[in-house]
Amino acid sequence: MKTAIVWFKTNLRVHDNEPLLRAIEQNDLVIPVYCFDDNHYRTTEKGFKKTGSFRAQFILQALLDLDSSLRQLGSGLLIVKGNTGDVLAQIALEYKARKIYAQQEVAHEELQTQDEVTTKLQAIHCSLETFNTTALYHPHDLPFTIANVPDIFTPFRHKVESSTKIRAPFPSPKAIRSLELPALQLPSLSDLGLGPAILDSRAAFNYPGGESSAMMRVKYYFEESGLVSSYKATRNGLVGADYSTKFSPWLAIGCLSPRYVYQKLKAYEANYGANDSTYWVVFELLWRDYFRLIMSKYGVQLFLKNGIDSNHPKAKQHNTEVFAKWINGETGVDFVDANMRELKLTGFMSNRGRQNVASYLCNDLKLDWTYGAAYFEVQLIDYDVCSNWGNWAYIAGVGNDPRKDRYFNIQKQADQYDTDHSYRNLWLK
Ligand SMILES: Cc1cc2nc3c(=O)[nH]c(=O)nc-3n(C[C@H](O)[C@H](O)[C@H](O)COP(=O)(O)OP(=O)(O)OC[C@H]3O[C@@H](n4cnc5c(N)ncnc54)[C@H](O)[C@@H]3O)c2cc1C
Repeated sequence: MKTAIVWFKTNLRVHDNEPLLRAIEQNDLVIPVYCFDDNHYRTTEKGFKKTGSFRAQFILQALLDLDSSLRQLGSGLLIVKGNTGDVLAQIALEYKARKIYAQQEVAHEELQTQDEVTTKLQAIHCSLETFNTTALYHPHDLPFTIANVPDIFTPFRHKVESSTKIRAPFPSPKAIRSLELPALQLPSLSDLGLGPAILDSRAAFNYPGGESSAMMRVKYYFEESGLVSSYKATRNGLVGADYSTKFSPWLAIGCLSPRYVYQKLKAYEANYGANDSTYWVVFELLWRDYFRLIMSKYGVQLFLKNGIDSNHPKAKQHNTEVFAKWINGETGVDFVDANMRELKLTGFMSNRGRQNVASYLCNDLKLDWTYGAAYFEVQLIDYDVCSNWGNWAYIAGVGNDPRKDRYFNIQKQADQYDTDHSYRNLWLK
């Protein structure tokens, strides 16, 4: 009997999941596993947890949903906790697995874990095979090597759009041959060292984690509401769920595949017609791909104060007191404060808000941007290592923005995007 493990990470779905499909094709028995890595719940040197309660809660919901889908197919999800390398090696020994199938990582710490897993598995004659599961464009199809990824988004976009096709998503498996797995055993938030996740009733994003709810949102956004046909005009909104797709939390932990989104978008265009708005969703997903590639190209540099631009050092200092006011929405600048309170109470903030509060921290308060990025990391439901650190470095002027001095005039932005003060009133009154 050939037994394999599928190691689920930020690909918590059964659709468009190549590691899962390959494991089923190539083995007699498949054991799906998810590991709560201690490292993801530690407190960092900046004083923040790496994962906050809102995101942890969303992950727990997604695992419940995944377990249910996997059980319908014939297996289930085994939950383990600890050091990933150690616990995966232990599970591999216990189930006599010769191979583990997983998603390929691109960011520094995730790659370190991947390498550690490979080494620990080698010692027990088990191997790790990885697959690209997270991007719209498959990295092997790109017209440049990682070292030659353009440093500016627009040339990148033109090159990929003119030369590369987006692959179709993989179908969901029909069945999984597995052993009888114990009932799902999820840790509680307090087991993970976290407090309760109490969502404010004003939250713009108030959906459970999981592939099922992701599918419902895609269906709603494209098929039921047709909101996609006005996305370009509404995407800079601030209040409610429908000004933008709200796909990001599901994309971030892989309940949703970007290629599935693309497929549904194309189906919408075939039925109702393409316009600037339908294209713009793809345009934004391309930014997501872009930050992945930039992460692959520059690695650990994207987490450093000087970023990828060592010729223009912009290192700024941290100031605990001023920073705390920024976090708590007590700067006295109403547009910034409204956004920061939304983030604190809900784990979500619009793209317009993120750009403004990040610019305010870097350009007005003149603080070290890496603390801002670390706070977003703990707080955001949709935290994605590449999108978060890539966007922050970009706004801090040490990333991929060709204009190194981009500055958001907060008052002007508030006047333009919150003309009637409804957003500020929502969060400050
Ligand atoms: C400082 C800062 C930090 C950010 N941190 C994150 C993060 O941790 N995780 C995250 O998913 N996004 C991050 N973003 C990007 C963006 O703000 C969110 O993706 C978006 O607000 C999510 O809402 P939505 O799904 O409704 O987006 P929509 O406007 O509907 O966009 C559709 C999808 O395109 C992608 N996208 C849109 N804008 C961007 C962008 N600027 N960069 C990368 N991808 C984008 C997302 O996957 C999004 O779900 C950050 C932006 C800034 C300025």
